[in-house]
Amino acid sequence: MIKFVKLILTLGLLKQSILAWGSTGHRIVGKVAESYLTKNAKMQIKKLMGHHDLSRFSVWADQIKSDPTWKHANNWHWCTVPDGESYQKGKHGGLAVEKVKEFILTLKSKQATKEKKQIALKFLVHLIGDLHQPLHVGNGSDRGGNDVKLQWFGESTNLHSIWDTELIDHQKLSYTEYSSYLMLDEDRGQIRNWQADSVLVYVHESRDLRNQCYEYDKTNLKWEYFYVNKSLLEQRLFQGGIRLSGELNRIFK
Ligand SMILES: [Zn+2]
Repeated sequence: MIKFVKLILTLGLLKQSILAWGSTGHRIVGKVAESYLTKNAKMQIKKLMGHHDLSRFSVWADQIKSDPTWKHANNWHWCTVPDGESYQKGKHGGLAVEKVKEFILTLKSKQATKEKKQIALKFLVHLIGDLHQPLHVGNGSDRGGNDVKLQWFGESTNLHSIWDTELIDHQKLSYTEYSSYLMLDEDRGQIRNWQADSVLVYVHESRDLRNQCYEYDKTNLKWEYFYVNKSLLEQRLFQGGIRLSGELNRIFK
């Protein structure tokens, strides 16, 4: 019985916790990235992981959050950059930037074991996605919108979850359908530019873009909020995938 109560409590907490893009969001980022990998990168990723389906391991870093042996990784999914500031290592909470840099080095390293590289790749695929969710670069005052209690079509939730999950799920597209739709109007020149960007570029973008997430005049958010924010949501999912492909193509040359 106690175990059962504990399980219910854990599930309740999990639902409210900082999950980053929900599963669909991470899988979309993975699918977009996979579509822009070089042959070489695909081959090396397959050698390391057994396949190069990035969507399949994009949510692992969220799934291990309930595993006590990975408790120390809970603050790897986000960082804090207050309005008007640039990212500064160690100044505020969240290790996402340091971890992205560290995992890139691990994957490039000649000494790292295969197992270490597998973990590094699973995290990298996930964290580059997370950092494109504008509220994963927090302003330092509301835990990335987790403390901003709102309703989504009458259901209690918070601003962070609306961006992680609700806006995406509202469209009722699978991750494969959604990623194909995002790639419909690709601009090859733009994609090459985005692929060249490094982590601080998209961290600072998220810092600047997140203010739009806070623009609403009622606390029960519905269609209007959805329509105003749909293009920002889709831009960030698409850019997340493109930046990830750029990083992986550089690592697996
Ligand atoms: Zn995450």
